[in-house]
Amino acid sequence: MILILGGTGEARALASRVTAVSSLAGRVREPRLPAGQVRVGGFGGVDGLAQWLRDNDIHAVVDATHPFAARITANAFEACQRVGVPLLVLRRPGFTPRPGWTRVDSVADAAAALPGERVFLTTGRQDLAEFAGCPQWFLARMVEPPEPPMPQRIEVLLARGPFTVEDELALMREHRIDVLVTKDSGGAMTSAKLDAAERLGLPVVVVRRPPLPPVEAVATVDEAVSWLGTAGA
Ligand code: NAP
Repeated sequence: MILILGGTGEARALASRVTAVSSLAGRVREPRLPAGQVRVGGFGGVDGLAQWLRDNDIHAVVDATHPFAARITANAFEACQRVGVPLLVLRRPGFTPRPGWTRVDSVADAAAALPGERVFLTTGRQDLAEFAGCPQWFLARMVEPPEPPMPQRIEVLLARGPFTVEDELALMREHRIDVLVTKDSGGAMTSAKLDAAERLGLPVVVVRRPPLPPVEAVATVDEAVSWLGTAGA
């Protein structure tokens, strides 16, 4: 059996093309479910994942998690090495840098270098705490409601993309946004906000991706399907 570590559109696309069990972390109450078998929840670190791979007779793992889900990616690398199971990372390419972007290494660095007063924050619920001490006003968009700590001056917008450029333009204008903060998630589904910011001439702070472990990586679902063919899974 193949294990797909999921939580992304690419993971769902892959699950619709191969026979596999998909794993979701369980962060979202009503997730978009992939085709086929699905399991939900953490494995219990590297040890738990390694044991799960053995117990479920897994022959190959595709880590198609979000580019910022660094913990599960590191765990998958270690567990697959330990158990001797081939691992592939499926990661969509990052955004192509544009003029007016400031690129930073972490969400904390983004919080420390905000070139504006009315911030459109799209880094997600888990990173909100990094902005707790910031005096700026935030429009923070996320899928699930956040928990404190968070900035004092904030409006939370619960929404799940994809969004159109027109949606994003209207939102940024309505809230008089003067800076956008985003992770370098990549992908066409999440780039409308960047187009809108560019059209409005707004500065954009982009958080760079965490590094990958030394593992084979591909950028497309087609490549992952072929790899699974050659991995004999
Ligand atoms: P993370 O920090 O890398 O992982 C934290 C822990 O969550 C892992 O140690 C693991 O628990 C569990 N986990 C994460 N992904 C899992 C999966 N696919 N299946 C089973 N357990 C998983 O991950 P995260 O940043 O919290 O992201 C969680 C999920 O949301 C991922 O599946 C990711 O693809 C998706 N997501 C993340 C972002 C983001 O910005 N980080 C954005 C969109 C979607 P155990 O150690 O107990 O195994």
